[in-house]
Amino acid sequence: MAKDNLDIKEFHWLMDMLQTIDVGLIVLDKNFKVQVWNSFMENHSGIPPLSVKDKVLFDVFGDIPKEWFTQKAESVFLLKSRAFITWELRPYLFKFKNYRPITGTEEFMYQNVSISPLVSVDGSVSSICVIIYDVTDIASNKKALEKANVELESLSRTDRLTMLNNRGYWEECLQNEYSRLQRYDTTSSLVMFDIDHFKKVNDTYGHQAGDEVIRVVSKLLRDSLRKTDIAGRYGGEEFGIILGHTSSENAFIYCERLRKAIEDTTVVHDGIEIKFTISLGICEASKKLEDYKQWLEKTDQALYQCKESGRNKTMIYDLSTL
Ligand code: GH3
Ligand code: MG
Ligand code: MG
Repeated sequence: MAKDNLDIKEFHWLMDMLQTIDVGLIVLDKNFKVQVWNSFMENHSGIPPLSVKDKVLFDVFGDIPKEWFTQKAESVFLLKSRAFITWELRPYLFKFKNYRPITGTEEFMYQNVSISPLVSVDGSVSSICVIIYDVTDIASNKKALEKANVELESLSRTDRLTMLNNRGYWEECLQNEYSRLQRYDTTSSLVMFDIDHFKKVNDTYGHQAGDEVIRVVSKLLRDSLRKTDIAGRYGGEEFGIILGHTSSENAFIYCERLRKAIEDTTVVHDGIEIKFTISLGICEASKKLEDYKQWLEKTDQALYQCKESGRNKTMIYDLSTL
């Protein structure tokens, strides 16, 4: 008699624990009819146990992907082993609102889900136990960290004054483009350009005005690019552009358009009008080039020829001299 009392007491404790535990607990039979539905599930879904008891889960929660969940559950019934679904695979099983104050920015509760077989005394599995863990805090932190990393990476590649790729990252891109050209039968052109008599801009109007000119040139450059082109700030007032799938003739047309756009631009700084020009060198990729450094060197030579012969012009490196 005393033993029976203890059993009932233990049973009540168990029921209490089941109700107050801070995870969702659901028992489903073979037909996915709900047998147990604890307080966590009631509180978050707003549906009391009596309203779901013996109802098919998918009839009550229409947005649970039936086929996918059935397949998961069937394997638990069949193999008598646990299955686990992480929030990274599927953010949630039950679409519950997120009420956590710290992770209030997340709209829904992120959930990890485990499905365990409930084995009867005869060894058969006629029910499964689904446990829902609220992992919104973990998911939210991880997502914030990933976002910060992406932003940090982008910052580490970007030149602050011009918001173009910085030299390090741009050179990496150039190296990749050179390797790509070794593997595929395609062409690319490299452009280097430099602002003419820039020292004079600094000397006459001041460093701030010089910075503004660099910013305006960068903006015109950015606006001139196609999606596949990669531009970077190579030095103080020197820029590089990788024009993918572009012959030197087409690169010349592009360069002349940019050169003229810059020639036609006036920067007004402290009420003073500043005019400036650029010189551009082009070198088309060739099998004759030993590495990306030589590609850069030859492009720079074409740019140097512009400077030598009067500036404000575009010149193509003559590959036949290589
Ligand atoms: P050239 O036509 O031969 O190119 O003549 P240049 O006067 O432009 O000569 P160069 O290209 O060698 O001059 C670069 C100058 O750019 C020197 C440096 O003081 C200035 N400079 C480099 N970076 C910056 C910058 O971020 N801001 C400003 N305002 N000036 C810079
Ligand atoms: Mg210059
Ligand atoms: Mg220079």
